[in-house]
Amino acid sequence: MATSNTPDFNKVLYAPLAEIDPEVKNIIDKETWRQFTGLELIASENLTSRATLEANGSILTNKYSEGLPNARYYGGNEYIDELEILCRKRALEAFNLDPAKWGVNVQPYSGSTANFAALTALLQPQDRLMGLGLPDGGHLTHGYYTAKKKMTASSIYFQSFPYAIDPTTQLIDYEGLKRQAKIFKPRLIICGASAYPRDWDYAALKATADVEGAYLMADIAHTSGLVAAQTLNNPFDYCDIVTTTTHKTLRGPRAGLIFFKRDGPNSQDLEKRVNDAVFPACQGGPHNNTIAAVATALLQVSQPAFKVYAKQVISNAQTLAAALQENGYKLQTGGTDNHLVLWDLRPLGLTGSKVEKVCDLLGITINKNAVSGDASAQTPGGIRLGTSALTSRDMKEEDIKVVASFLHRAVQLSLFLQKEAGSKLLKDFIRAATTKGSAGAAQVTELRRDVATFAQRWPLPGADVSTLKRPAGIEEEF
Ligand SMILES: *Cc1c(COP(=O)(O)O)cnc(C)c1O
Repeated sequence: MATSNTPDFNKVLYAPLAEIDPEVKNIIDKETWRQFTGLELIASENLTSRATLEANGSILTNKYSEGLPNARYYGGNEYIDELEILCRKRALEAFNLDPAKWGVNVQPYSGSTANFAALTALLQPQDRLMGLGLPDGGHLTHGYYTAKKKMTASSIYFQSFPYAIDPTTQLIDYEGLKRQAKIFKPRLIICGASAYPRDWDYAALKATADVEGAYLMADIAHTSGLVAAQTLNNPFDYCDIVTTTTHKTLRGPRAGLIFFKRDGPNSQDLEKRVNDAVFPACQGGPHNNTIAAVATALLQVSQPAFKVYAKQVISNAQTLAAALQENGYKLQTGGTDNHLVLWDLRPLGLTGSKVEKVCDLLGITINKNAVSGDASAQTPGGIRLGTSALTSRDMKEEDIKVVASFLHRAVQLSLFLQKEAGSKLLKDFIRAATTKGSAGAAQVTELRRDVATFAQRWPLPGADVSTLKRPAGIEEEF
């Protein structure tokens, strides 16, 4: 609270957001409403806890703490040191790691910066690396480039070469990777993906890495919550480095972690190299509010309930896959082992962009995604769906079947709109869906209403939905 002596220039420091900045407050309210009245199926998203949000919004954001616990460039870090040490301990516990065998850096701002720091630690500039190709489900930061352009720092500052999935099985082509690694001679092999519905054979990757004298790094950004819950294979048994985001299946705030092996044949100086790569090579001061939130999220991950959550996420994804297949739809690899489903829309003559657009109008949030054999990267033939967020809103198998029926209706509606559009162009398709008074728009409105009515039955972590009101700037009423 301001005191009677607080000068005018500081009064601003004590006013609540709604008073000082109604514009931003209204944007937050609209986004809260969108999350409440919609169905979140983006596979990389989740809903973090109230406690995590509290820590993330705390006064810890004020503190500079470049360096590591007990070795800082600034004073006043006794509690920040305590926090970072606690967060590291919880990170190792969450993944069942022995502190004698693994260490962790908890300062990365996000998954991408964690990955670039890991590459900086492991490689010299222009060293060679291999990662799963982007169209096959890999991530931008695993060496992505196009014919015309080196797209990310991982291909600008290093020589990269992609491995692939087998076009028939749509599973990782471990044999192909082995053959190409023999020729390309990577210093580093990266595994892990953003759109791969199956588990990884880390032993096969480790065998290839050993033959070529390469490091093996797993980027488990998507699946880390499922790995921590021991519902998927364990990359820590085989890798030198494991990176992850903390906001996907791990259900924390937006940040990254880098785990490094202490006792392997490649572990020489690894701890120092990772720590130096994060700071000062790639980052500045740690975001201590975020580190506090990561610590809180990791505490939750270590509790028995999280295992039940992770199992439910997978069961929900498998229920979703089965329900779509019952309607005759085609899924890449024919199902899923994890939290995500890749839906191949090409047999229907639809593109991912069109279905994504329709779903957006319906309040079903998904994303277009490449599927194996896509002719053009510009028009992906599929969509990616994930169950992490819906499971965080309490949904179980029977509820996911309702969600699957909405998706079925959305795709049938897309087929209708494509016919109404009279062309294959996206702009004609959007016109068919949005022209007031048209048959397409009427169907969109009806389905939107059904989706919103269903979505509003569920709680939303971080918001008190019993008092939530439709904010100014949102027209639709249900
Ligand atoms: C999401 C993701 C990242 C990047 O995370 P950001 O926090 O968005 O930077 C890195 N690797 C993989 C495999 C991912 O899925």
